[in-house]
Amino acid sequence: MESLLYQSRGDEKKARDTGRGTQLLACVGDRRMTSQTGAQVSQEGAPPRFLADRTLGRLAKWLRILGYDTAYLPQLTPDGLVREGRRQGRIILTRNTRLLRRKDVPPLVFVQSDHFRDQLKQVVEVCHLDPKQRLLTRCILCNEVLVEVAKDAVRDLVPAYVWETQEVFCRCPRCQRIYWGATHRDHVLDELQRLGVLGTEELVG
Ligand SMILES: [Zn+2]
Repeated sequence: MESLLYQSRGDEKKARDTGRGTQLLACVGDRRMTSQTGAQVSQEGAPPRFLADRTLGRLAKWLRILGYDTAYLPQLTPDGLVREGRRQGRIILTRNTRLLRRKDVPPLVFVQSDHFRDQLKQVVEVCHLDPKQRLLTRCILCNEVLVEVAKDAVRDLVPAYVWETQEVFCRCPRCQRIYWGATHRDHVLDELQRLGVLGTEELVG
């Protein structure tokens, strides 16, 4: 799976930010409550943005694969997490039960499982994420939105067989990593299906 993280397809660069109406459910312990502040965190029609706590690095990586803006700052203390979540208007993803007792936290999702697959499923469901709409539009390492670049511009930057067989290339504006490849997209879709995030029918087309 790791190899996929370095070469992915950016043909959905025109990530539509229309999303769904943001009706967030903040999942707090066993209670589920509709977050009235969801609309403040995510402007009408804009996709939710996340800030993952230090225990959720793998979840953060997968949310980026799905194309969702996910900050991961493992050096943050719980107070720092709350502060940055509020300042940046991000939904906090956390396994820290102590945050549930605080009244000053911005919208958060308490991630219930230790297991990455269940974590991803929970966030996709609770936040109404579309697993395919923005797939592979974001750098998995930097969280930056990828920018399409001309094929000629990457001739010396990718292996010859890749240049000859691929038509769409994107670059991360921060780390300059080049992404490509419909094949990788298929692999990611297979993985998402294996994780239970996609149904079989969603792989068709
Ligand atoms: Zn990058």
